[in-house]
Amino acid sequence: MPASIPSAPHRLFVVLGDQLDYQRFLPADFDPKTDLFWMAEASEESTHVRSNKHRIVCFLAAMRHFRNHLNDGQIPLLYHELDKGESSLSGLLGQDLKQLKPRLVSVVKPGDYRVEEALRKTVEEHRAKWEVREDEHFLCTQAEFEEHAQGRKSLRMEFFYREMRRKHDVLMDGKDPVGGAWNFDKENRESFGKQGPPPSPMVRGCSPDALTQEVIDLVNQRFPDHPGDLRQFIWPVTPQQAEDALTQFIEECLPCFGRFQDAMWTDEYTLFHSLLGSPINLRLLDPRKVIEAAEQAYLQGSAPLPAVEGFIRQILGWREYVRGIYHLRMPEYREMNFLEADQPLPEFFWTGETDMVCMKSCLKQVLDTGYGHHIQRLMVIGLYSLLHGVRPGEINDWFLANYVDAVDWVTTPNVVGMSQFADGGIMASKPYSATGAYIDRMSNYCKKCRFQPKESTGPDACPFTTLYWDFLDRHRKRLGGNQRLAMQMRNLVRLSEEKLAEIRKGADSLRRPS
Ligand code: FAD
Ligand code: SF4
Repeated sequence: MPASIPSAPHRLFVVLGDQLDYQRFLPADFDPKTDLFWMAEASEESTHVRSNKHRIVCFLAAMRHFRNHLNDGQIPLLYHELDKGESSLSGLLGQDLKQLKPRLVSVVKPGDYRVEEALRKTVEEHRAKWEVREDEHFLCTQAEFEEHAQGRKSLRMEFFYREMRRKHDVLMDGKDPVGGAWNFDKENRESFGKQGPPPSPMVRGCSPDALTQEVIDLVNQRFPDHPGDLRQFIWPVTPQQAEDALTQFIEECLPCFGRFQDAMWTDEYTLFHSLLGSPINLRLLDPRKVIEAAEQAYLQGSAPLPAVEGFIRQILGWREYVRGIYHLRMPEYREMNFLEADQPLPEFFWTGETDMVCMKSCLKQVLDTGYGHHIQRLMVIGLYSLLHGVRPGEINDWFLANYVDAVDWVTTPNVVGMSQFADGGIMASKPYSATGAYIDRMSNYCKKCRFQPKESTGPDACPFTTLYWDFLDRHRKRLGGNQRLAMQMRNLVRLSEEKLAEIRKGADSLRRPS
């Protein structure tokens, strides 16, 4: 039996769909007689970007499990299930505020600026007090990040990460990093070679329980034209499932994670990656626990240091860093377009129908499953979009819609900053630009493709390679002064005018296929 709901609550505690922190959700001074939790499944959150069905199920199923947890604990909760009409979070909240008239509405810092603004306005319209609480899920508070950023001309993840290692005493040997180095990147860039990947676990994730199956049916019925094939759903939606996924990763994948972190292979979707992005972002799994489990694996000798350091860098470094940047630079960050990219998103991003085998593989995979690993995101889909010149806002919304782990605070800096260089260098010191030769080195995609990765002109020209030279050519002025691109720019100068003219023509026809 759920707890009864106070008819005139003093305080309303809003819990958003990615704030399902079973350990920390209850404020120390919570009083069930006068306080009320509030949650809502708002359809607008699945439609403002046309979300992948896997992503929608992750959110809704995890929310319904969390609701049951609160009900079992007799915590008063007002919960709105997805209703038939279009609904927005702020609209639903507004209706309840009108009736309940609480004095205060409190929320943990939302990870989506759009949502925070909409809720704040609604609360103020209803003349209640608006309170935003610190998000204790993260290891770095926003104040600490701002302190780190203050006075620095440019921010770099590496320095932030070292500070975090020291502060949280992770992989440290006194004042020095364990193993004598902060970074083992050189050992973490192997491809699979001709023989292909070593065996990776056949079965990943967990099977849906009855409640999750109910949500799968609902999503299939409610969002039939959204991408995603739900016949196989593997994503954790409870803390226990998330912990099981962590255990599997540590035991079966972590030892190979570092070496093959950047490698790709046709029809191998998950390889040695953790698949923990979604449960960590939903707060089902504490990042401290993940870091500790990886560090223990090293200390017990079951995983090598480069793999463990490479993995911890992603969580303690990149994850905390992008969140700091998001809150530091929003709302203008989302609108940035340093390279003045002005092309619409090609239609094949929503179908996967293209002759480019690398794009087809990575797009079909994410459209079907809601997952792609980092290098597929950065060095295939993101790279194509950068070279093609897609408007950053459009590609950002596409990423936000399609990945199970997508939430604005993490998607936007990764897409707008890291992959599209639309922030002009806040996230990364240079654009991640490369020819098809990079994809050829790191995967077997090119072996089955009708294009040749090294060719930039002619009928076999690889679109990545054509667009790469065209990209450097178009941005000579803007990027010419970037020291980290000096070698690429020197190679551009070596191209003849005739060759460049042909490249420009090829790039134009890729942008405007007849
Ligand atoms: P693993 O490869 O096993 O890595 C372990 C964990 O490290 C991840 O689960 C994640 O929590 C963290 N991590 C790794 N890299 C990053 C990073 N750059 N930023 C933040 N956390 C990181 N990550 C998201 O969580 N949500 C997104 O919407 C998202 N969009 C991305 C879009 C682009 C264009 C790029 C280049 C990267 C994006 N990332 C995003 C970061 C990263 O690609 C994913 O976190 C990772 O691929 C998720 O798969 P995994 O859980 O198997 O991660
Ligand atoms: Fe992709 Fe070019 Fe390789 Fe084809 S040749 S798979 S388009 S990189």
